[in-house]
Amino acid sequence: MKVYNTQSKRKEEFEPLVPGKVSMYVCGPTVYNFIHIGNARPMIVFDTARRYMEHKGYEVNYVSNFTDVDDKIIAKANEEGVTAQEISERYIAECKKDMEGMNVKPATTHPLATQEIDGMIEMIQTLIDKGYAYNVDGTVYFRTKKFKDYGKLSHKNLDDLRSGNRSLLVTGEDQKEDPLDFVLWKPKKEGEPSWPSPWSDGRPGWHIECSVMAKKYLGEEIDIHAGGEDLIFPHHENEIAQSECCNGKPFAKYWLHNAFLNIDNRKMSKSLGNFFTVREISEKYDLQVLRFFMLSAHYRSPLNFSAELMEASANGLERIRNAVSNLGYLLESAADGEMTAQEQKQLDEVMAFETKFDEAMDDDFNTADAIAAIFELVKYANSNASAENTKAFVQTVRDEIIKLCDVLGVIAEEQQELLDEEIEKLIQERQEARKAKNFARADEIRNQLLEQGITLLDTREGVKWKRA
Ligand code: AMP
Ligand code: ZN
Repeated sequence: MKVYNTQSKRKEEFEPLVPGKVSMYVCGPTVYNFIHIGNARPMIVFDTARRYMEHKGYEVNYVSNFTDVDDKIIAKANEEGVTAQEISERYIAECKKDMEGMNVKPATTHPLATQEIDGMIEMIQTLIDKGYAYNVDGTVYFRTKKFKDYGKLSHKNLDDLRSGNRSLLVTGEDQKEDPLDFVLWKPKKEGEPSWPSPWSDGRPGWHIECSVMAKKYLGEEIDIHAGGEDLIFPHHENEIAQSECCNGKPFAKYWLHNAFLNIDNRKMSKSLGNFFTVREISEKYDLQVLRFFMLSAHYRSPLNFSAELMEASANGLERIRNAVSNLGYLLESAADGEMTAQEQKQLDEVMAFETKFDEAMDDDFNTADAIAAIFELVKYANSNASAENTKAFVQTVRDEIIKLCDVLGVIAEEQQELLDEEIEKLIQERQEARKAKNFARADEIRNQLLEQGITLLDTREGVKWKRA
């Protein structure tokens, strides 16, 4: 498998530090509002990378944080007259609901910045002790000049940045030794949440949280660090500086960055006001369509959001789901028994689509080509599977489509809700089975309904039922 590493600017063969295991850190959202579909892009694409690596047999330890202390959270809390904690807890819960809707697996660990302050103080102290950080009146800065590799990820010209940033220095920052030095700890302002530290009552800068959480939950050296491309500089550059100077080891082996989700060819963002929340989209579309749309482009290509493309994704997904449900109908009439010699031969053709899928995903998670392979398989199924086939063959083809979609986190098998009259019919059948003392069948029906979230109540007036 090859992955594109932002640091080397080329595709590299993926070799994890420990064979068979992958440690992966993905920067998560700042929780002061509902997430927008731009924020959803890294969630979906890196969840897909994780699923693919799991499909290949890797054990993936996936860590993604929630930034729950930040200026924007504090501003929102003041606006509503509630605590910052209330705001962050509310939007973490909402974000998790959106993730579930998009079929994004929960991370192995979802650490919260506010729960990791001790670790941050410890790392900052180590950086001060080693001469990589300095305290000026309660604010601690990282001394970028001391880290020779500063700039290695973003490939920026530091001299240009220095001269550019000099004029941008905000008041209060003129105490920095160098315009590129960044904050590790800052003293509190009135009305802000704060924690005691050796330097001041205050709170951490943003970058330090990820260095600390990655170290605590994954170790000093990790395989993959990922996030949106806007995080390359300064966030990820600063994470490297902090982690490598503190630990004395290379931090992440592979740096992966997704391109932006745009609207009218401009980055979708809260500050530009040109965004749709995942929640808004869920009112118009099944969120599976959103996921399918995100995966229709390579994660490093900009993707423009439009109603037309969403419609095309909805149609594409429907084409796959129709094929799966048609194969389901064929199963009912297909013949029992072993696959024919002809079907065995056809199976090789079916498996060739999986090879194509894997080759696309092995090439830096090319989900666009992987989806194309699924469409080819669907087309093959539509024109080659019929009522003349054996159950074994139809089942294999159907399972294959569902499996490949599942690797992408796309649900191809629609969970059909039972209609009221179908439920009534099953209840009737159960009553007849009981009368005939066929209790096994009666129980089977009760369990079948239970699996669909329907409970039965035997009352004096007869059987009543309700949905969960
Ligand atoms: P934030 O809450 O702004 O820190 O963003 C959380 C994640 O979403 C980061 O990885 C960002 O890079 C990513 N992100 C934000 N806006 C977009 C966008 N329009 N397209 C793609 N990724 C984005
Ligand atoms: Zn981060």
